[in-house]
Amino acid sequence: MSSEGATRSVGGTNLPGTLVVLSGPSGVGKSTICRRLVERLGASLSVSATTRPQGRREVNGKDYWFMSREQFEDKIRCGEFLEYAEVFGNLYGTPADAVREQIAEGKTVILEIDVQGGRAVRKLFPKALLLFLLPPNMTALAERIQGRNRGEDAETLRRRLDAAQREIDEAKTFYTKMIVNDDLEKAIQEVVEAIGQNCGA
Ligand code: ADP
Ligand code: 5GP
Repeated sequence: MSSEGATRSVGGTNLPGTLVVLSGPSGVGKSTICRRLVERLGASLSVSATTRPQGRREVNGKDYWFMSREQFEDKIRCGEFLEYAEVFGNLYGTPADAVREQIAEGKTVILEIDVQGGRAVRKLFPKALLLFLLPPNMTALAERIQGRNRGEDAETLRRRLDAAQREIDEAKTFYTKMIVNDDLEKAIQEVVEAIGQNCGA
């Protein structure tokens, strides 16, 4: 497979899919923006596997594939992940087959993954578009994390805020574009424009 994924031939024209990584601190608005991109662009959202506990409002197979560490480690051994990483003590991974199939179909595929995952994807797909969402400020980020109502305790919240700053600093060194998610509609527009520009590249 080429670095940009497979291509399909329709009427003699190759239609390569576009791979978009959307990263940002926990609670910055990644899921919200991804949902809107699916509606607006018909983009496909990769559903990651994770060992973290399922949140009250989360649906298995839609938000994540929730599984035990043993099940996850079996999948690592079988080479089922495009990339995987440990985040806040839990494992998260991108199922490889689904992503490769969708790129082969010429789709825009969005991976909502962390910066470690972004780095791995950039190695595998050097032309992938790497977008990083920034919060307007840390107070707003803390409010959004609590607003998700996943029942995180104060210690988890503190760890997430500490990790956010480190992640922002790292992303600045290799992500294609940093986008502030203050006004939601404006942020979505910026993401859509970045994807549009990348498609033409
Ligand atoms: P993530 O997927 O990055 O963890 P979510 O998409 O779950 O974040 O968003 C966290 C919370 O922040 C949600 O309650 C969401 O409605 C809210 N949110 C997202 N974007 C904005 C925004 N631009 N302004 C205010 N609240 C926002
Ligand atoms: P959350 O538990 O808040 O949904 O996600 C925690 C972090 O894990 C977020 O930064 C999210 O982007 C990241 N993440 C989710 N799925 C994956 C994945 O498949 N791979 C990697 N590397 N990170 C992921």
